[in-house]
Amino acid sequence: MTYADSGYGERPYGDVPGGDFIRDIIANDLKSGRINSVVARFPPEPNGYLHIGHAKSICLNFGIAEEFSGRCHLRFDDTNPTREEQEYIDAIEADVRWLGFDWGKHLYHASDYFERLYGWAEDLIRKSLAYVDDQTQDEMRAARGTLTEPGRNSPFRDRTVEENLDLFRRMKSGEFPNGARVLRAKIDMASGNINLRDPVLYRILHATHPRTGTAWSIYPSYDYAHGQSDAIEGVTHSICTLEFEDHRPLYDWFLDHLPVPSRPRQYEFARLNLTYTVLSKRVLTELVRGGHVKGWDDPRMPTLAGLRRRGVPPSAIRDFIKRIGVAKANSVVDAGVLDFSIREVLNKTALRRMAVLRPLKVVIENYPEGQSEELDAVNHPDDPAAGTRKVRFGRELYIEQDDFMENPPKKFFRLSPGTEVRLRYAYFITCREVVKNAAGEVIELRCTYDPATKGGNAPDGRKVKATMHWVSAKHAVPAEIRLYNPLFNSASPDAGNFAADLNPNSLEVLADARVEPALAGLNSAEPVQFERQGYFAPDPDSTPDHLVFNRTVGLRDSFAKVVGKP
Ligand code: ATP
Ligand code: MG
Repeated sequence: MTYADSGYGERPYGDVPGGDFIRDIIANDLKSGRINSVVARFPPEPNGYLHIGHAKSICLNFGIAEEFSGRCHLRFDDTNPTREEQEYIDAIEADVRWLGFDWGKHLYHASDYFERLYGWAEDLIRKSLAYVDDQTQDEMRAARGTLTEPGRNSPFRDRTVEENLDLFRRMKSGEFPNGARVLRAKIDMASGNINLRDPVLYRILHATHPRTGTAWSIYPSYDYAHGQSDAIEGVTHSICTLEFEDHRPLYDWFLDHLPVPSRPRQYEFARLNLTYTVLSKRVLTELVRGGHVKGWDDPRMPTLAGLRRRGVPPSAIRDFIKRIGVAKANSVVDAGVLDFSIREVLNKTALRRMAVLRPLKVVIENYPEGQSEELDAVNHPDDPAAGTRKVRFGRELYIEQDDFMENPPKKFFRLSPGTEVRLRYAYFITCREVVKNAAGEVIELRCTYDPATKGGNAPDGRKVKATMHWVSAKHAVPAEIRLYNPLFNSASPDAGNFAADLNPNSLEVLADARVEPALAGLNSAEPVQFERQGYFAPDPDSTPDHLVFNRTVGLRDSFAKVVGKP
């Protein structure tokens, strides 16, 4: 993707890139000649689907590669086969592409480097910088100390190089059960930085890896694999989130003591947090496994797959990420900002259509039975090139239930007994009579129309205070509409006990909506605007006989109303 078609227009940071602290650092490194070209990477662990937080990291890493004419790798940090699955690998690749980025031939896996990482671990042993520890996990934890107390050396810390090499090789050959031993770096059990208290480099795991199968019985820790993978790939700027700041001294220790081919520098930025949203893969996994949502691509999920299914265009996500910027201080972004970006994009691109979500029947008494006519409707008010279409008008119509009130309060200007309103693209109608069922509910309105107001204007210049959408009862197509509200009731859901904060009304299904026939022939997944209602996208559950639409976003900021926020 180039800037021209990214939707951003001009280069966002001017001719001399810069604009946030990371872009400043890169601009300076290029200017000073410290590097010739920038190499970045996006390094997901394939243990879940990508979410909007990952989008921040993707847009940052691929974005700087584009802006500074460098490159960005997609690298799977696949060091934990017990939690990784091919489904996640495939989904991550599809999602990064969908977001608009391309890694070209630079697709890598930490598992590509397992041999090399293993060799370097033997090097550390030979330099007496690593040892095999037989302590149990509990013993290791107890000996690790706390933030205020130093740890204690393991009784196995002073094994000879020969003994360590022998044990490590036997770990590798699969001789010991899971958890029997680990390989640890020999650094400093009294270090003020707990990450330097002899961190684990390898653990025994008899597990099948999605790529290496059963070739390995030991797997490197994330901390041991991550920085070295960057160094192997020649990554110049290892950009990660703030929680890895305390790991940087350990990554540097590895670079200092191993014959790595390059020396990446790590920079940390603040992760994205969103109100009413949880961006923890653990919680998202539990939402899926626990059946709280229908899957990873449930439109209520903050995953890229969920946002896509809801109808969110990738350019809206890129716009959102650009809007919130990159900084070093943690903060929480209002979820309304994302909705704002979505509306900004869809307002420009989405075709207008009419759909009645909660139908109320209207009979136009003075319109001839058995007759109907075609009227012109514009596809986009700001884009004449989008053209017009025909909509059918007839004697029986549907309007929105809440566009009618039998006993309206003062400021209600829509339909009520005796009032006249405009039906969009059609005629003025006046309500003459209300028909109710045995329960006293309004089930039908008897109205009249003024044939002189065709197209929506009265020749005598009289005005109406409301213009309403409608569909022809005979021609409209039934549809199921899924309305989504925030998945959580709380602006800052408790990740530890997320179930308590789940919004029981996050999904509202309207099973009996009616949409104009033009929507039945829709053969793209592009969202449309249902006039006066919001933006809606066809759901993949749709069949030729059963249309299903997802509300992507309403027309106005609904957060205040939906969840009681000021
Ligand atoms: P895990 O707990 O499984 O490690 P993770 O969210 O860190 O979850 P990774 O696959 O390790 O998932 O993330 C890949 C990259 O995305 C990392 O560089 C990480 O820093 C970044 N990332 C993850 N969450 C966010 C977020 N909320 N905002 C910005 N970047 C994020
Ligand atoms: Mg991670």
